[in-house]
Amino acid sequence: MKAPVDDRLDALRGSAKRLDYSARSLAALENNPRCTLRALLDASGSDKAAIAAHAGHPSPFGQSAFALARGNVFETMVKDNGCAELLRLLRETLQLTLPEVGYEDLNDIGGDGRAEVRHDRTKQVLLQAARGNGGGTLFDHPMLCLPVGGHKAFLEPDLVAFRIGGRFHVVEIKSFPIIDGQADPTQVRAATTQACAYIIALRNLLARVGIDKQAVSDTIVLVAPKDFTNRPTAAFVDARKQVAALSRQLARIERIGDLVDLLPEGLTFDLGLDKDKRARRPAEELAEALDQVPATYRPDCLNHCEMAFYCRSRARADSSLDVLGPAVREQFGGIDTTTMVLGLAQGRLTPTQDQVEMAAALRHAARLRAELNVLGGAE
Ligand code: SF4
Repeated sequence: MKAPVDDRLDALRGSAKRLDYSARSLAALENNPRCTLRALLDASGSDKAAIAAHAGHPSPFGQSAFALARGNVFETMVKDNGCAELLRLLRETLQLTLPEVGYEDLNDIGGDGRAEVRHDRTKQVLLQAARGNGGGTLFDHPMLCLPVGGHKAFLEPDLVAFRIGGRFHVVEIKSFPIIDGQADPTQVRAATTQACAYIIALRNLLARVGIDKQAVSDTIVLVAPKDFTNRPTAAFVDARKQVAALSRQLARIERIGDLVDLLPEGLTFDLGLDKDKRARRPAEELAEALDQVPATYRPDCLNHCEMAFYCRSRARADSSLDVLGPAVREQFGGIDTTTMVLGLAQGRLTPTQDQVEMAAALRHAARLRAELNVLGGAE
């Protein structure tokens, strides 16, 4: 029987088909854990890209065809000939001892590529390997499954490598470059957080048969092009903190009912799709519904959430300090808007007891700025 919270989530989504969690949407939970709007949109399986577009702020997401093609070529090259290049990297670059190497592709099970079938086969071979019965070392395209908020989320890592120090390691193959041993921290973080979803799903699979979570390492192997070439290199990335943070967020989804209880009666993000799947709901009405749910916009939402342009516009319209990022936001604890900051700095607003110290600092900063302007003008 359906729980009332599921009925409420279905009503939030409305007429659209449910979208299940993916590794990317799970990873995004860890990026902005305080955002109620995102938590509700994801838990209800709503199509964030379609909602943002209908509200007048289409999503900036989606790689260019060129970037996708380049990524596919790179991944194919790393995995060619039973992952020959990957094995070279594991042995030479990461100094791992891999004497016997097997390879199994779990992409297509006897011509059946359905997620459930692939997951069953993945479970079978990974459990065999974990118990020491399987001969496989590298499992390509395993299909993992994680129950999230009462729904199954199928997750597909690029590859899982086994028997590196007797433990499973998740390998992430990415097409952004590692230059002189350094990669773009934002991209590394995004890749690592995604890998955390795989680590948690793999641990979950093993835990169901009583195998300890230590059988899955929380260090991932990142494979990416070296310098400005198309030649791969590899690095270990410690994902312990992100695994812990994402685990906390997954536990929060299980308590989604607490957030649902706070929503106004009858609230829905339904687009009112017609038989041709065109949204018929007035955009202003949809925006009004979205505005009733708290969103904690941060500039890095632009990297991971389809609602980012919508939420940025809402934060700007509210003169919210959120648009300046968490570092600035934290400095101004207790002050929410740029209007209030300017009012206190210029002495137009009377500070509350909590704001007295901050107001004095702001007035001091405003005086210094004015003096610098005068000096600059005198030169
Ligand atoms: S873009 Fe909006 S909905 Fe998405 S995480 Fe940021 S604040 Fe939340």
